[in-house]
Amino acid sequence: MRNISSLAVLFVVTALAVAAVTTPDSFETKTTAVTALSLGMIVLSLVAERLRPFRRSWNQNRGDLTGDIGSLVGIFGVLDGALKLLGPVLAIAVFGDLATSQVGLSLPVEVIVVTLVIELGSWVTHWLHHTQPNLWKLHAMHHSTERLYTLNNFRFHPLNHILNAVSVVFVPLLLGFSEESILIYTAITTPVLVLQHSNIDFEFGWLNRLVNTNEVHRWHHSTEPEHRKVNLGRALTIWDQLFGTYVAPTPAGAPTDIGLMDYSKKRVPPAERTIAQLIYPFKGDTTSGVESR
Ligand SMILES: [Zn+2]
Ligand SMILES: [Zn+2]
Repeated sequence: MRNISSLAVLFVVTALAVAAVTTPDSFETKTTAVTALSLGMIVLSLVAERLRPFRRSWNQNRGDLTGDIGSLVGIFGVLDGALKLLGPVLAIAVFGDLATSQVGLSLPVEVIVVTLVIELGSWVTHWLHHTQPNLWKLHAMHHSTERLYTLNNFRFHPLNHILNAVSVVFVPLLLGFSEESILIYTAITTPVLVLQHSNIDFEFGWLNRLVNTNEVHRWHHSTEPEHRKVNLGRALTIWDQLFGTYVAPTPAGAPTDIGLMDYSKKRVPPAERTIAQLIYPFKGDTTSGVESR
């Protein structure tokens, strides 16, 4: 029953998102609809965590709430607006007109191809953040929280967020994919991404093989060394399956502990010191090795 209701919730919200971007309307209206849906889902997810938590203790503030809210405002309110302006400007400078696709595919096929391209770019970007010491210093902030709930989704260093946007928006635009295909990809994946860190007791069953749900993503935040570089995909698990980095959720539902591994825990400022986390990548830490977690 839990399995069916989890799938139904995700299906309904995804259908709403797709309907919002495929009805005839201006591009601006469609992007506003997706943004409104994201914000609405954040609120619903925060409420659902209270009603049906996966771990009740993860609903307790551990000094990280203020920093998470600050990150949400910074990313949603400031950075995303700037990136939306910059993305098309850069692509127009290269290609001129963005209204039509440069790749010569029908829209449904283009959406499938752009999905694979974005997911691959995101997998590579995420893998680099876990293997390159300087990038890990940016990404460690995301892994510093010792609980998983909706707002963890936004605890990213701004430079990490910009690098993520390069693989999700800039590269596809520069490859000639249309803004429309990227927007449809965004609409399809927004529900999964908003729920990816949620502390809701979902059970997705077979869907976990395809989609990076909250059940799957919890293992990416595990403190166990064997989980150091697993489940790196964005919304889908397809590239993790192909590259051998996929770990399926176990019946226990989550790893024993969430957070940084010993090496980084001694060096990275804790989640309650968000400002120190933002500065940390620029401090000369000569002891940082290749051990990324
Ligand atoms: Zn990561
Ligand atoms: Zn995460």
